[in-house]
Amino acid sequence: MEIKAIRGFNDILPDEIGKWQFVEKTAREVFEGFGFSEIRIPIMERTELFSRGIGEATDIVEKEMYTFTDRSGNLLTLRPEATASMARAYLEHQIYTFDPVAKLYCIGPMFRYERPQKGRYRQFYQIDAEVFGVDNPMVDAEVILMLVHFLKRVGLEKLELQINTLGDRVCRPRYREELKKFLEKKSFQLCEDCQRRLQTNPLRIFDCKVETCQAAIANAPKVIDFICDECEKHFDKVKEYLKMAGLDYIVNPKMVRGLDYYTRTAFEVVSYQLGSQNAVTGGGRYDNLFKEIGGLDVPGIGFAIGMERLISLLPKEKEFIQYPHLFIAALGDETYKKAYQLINQLHLQGIRAELDYEGKSLKSQMRRADKLKSRYVLILGEEELKKGRAVLRNMETKSQEEIPMEDLVDILRLKFLPD
Ligand SMILES: [Zn+2]
Ligand SMILES: [Zn+2]
Repeated sequence: MEIKAIRGFNDILPDEIGKWQFVEKTAREVFEGFGFSEIRIPIMERTELFSRGIGEATDIVEKEMYTFTDRSGNLLTLRPEATASMARAYLEHQIYTFDPVAKLYCIGPMFRYERPQKGRYRQFYQIDAEVFGVDNPMVDAEVILMLVHFLKRVGLEKLELQINTLGDRVCRPRYREELKKFLEKKSFQLCEDCQRRLQTNPLRIFDCKVETCQAAIANAPKVIDFICDECEKHFDKVKEYLKMAGLDYIVNPKMVRGLDYYTRTAFEVVSYQLGSQNAVTGGGRYDNLFKEIGGLDVPGIGFAIGMERLISLLPKEKEFIQYPHLFIAALGDETYKKAYQLINQLHLQGIRAELDYEGKSLKSQMRRADKLKSRYVLILGEEELKKGRAVLRNMETKSQEEIPMEDLVDILRLKFLPD
């Protein structure tokens, strides 16, 4: 039987890869311009890093993690997100001893055992950016500005920035009690999961997609009405800095980010590009995460972008595939050797050149050049070679010119790689 990929695990094929490389390249350029450095973290960690960091009473930890015991009996999990690992690395390598402020980003696969749907996979890719060690609201605005700038740079339009505050360890417990009291009166309306969440983590109920739960929570008290003075001051500053950066936003008091560790600032960017509303990405501040994973009291803020969703929103008209610069059509054994030497020289210069490997007729070589969407064809005929010349044909305009063989590499390099 033919072996196929695992359900929910996806190949990204060569005709798709241009979009991925474009998004990754743009992320690196934009983030590094904002002073961020890349960090690469393992795809597997001890399970407790996620159960403590993300929170026991979250869907991710309860239902979606790929967890197993290795041959030594260690309980391990394929990373469902990157922030906890980045925080662990920051602590483990004592990055703070060099400088308490760390601006880090990471690009790579995450793993969650969710129901596979179109465009949604169990191995999916994220771009993460985090700032550790700053609680100044200026950094909240800086991170949001970087995110919005990045999304515009990759070509997304009709974006809306939504922000909210989630309180902190001073005021959130008070809100949580109020919310619990409110929902207890409506508990008959809640689904089985939310009945449990009501006891463990009532804020989670905002994320439930079940209709009766949505109805139950519709008029629930909002965290923004319970925040303490410090949280309010922080939120006001964030708004002020966003305005100074020229960013429009709306306050969405119902936005509760899915993970336990968020405090204070939460944000999402929503796209209206495909007619309907799509959350492209989101993030927030998490001043409790480091303590949860057993470290110092370090504040953090960051975001994660799902790459599959982002790529589905890229402008359709933009061209992402790199077609060959040149196809070399050679006729006869001697010219074929010449073509082999030439293509090696061109490849060393970085010119994308292709060659016929099967010694076919000129007509079928031209057909293949056409199929590969090569911009030019270089025709090496025996007659021309004797005169030390080759024919360069522009496949779009169909115009041809003769080029002396000795200057060929230089001429082609100037043509295709003008820098
Ligand atoms: Zn529910
Ligand atoms: Zn507070």
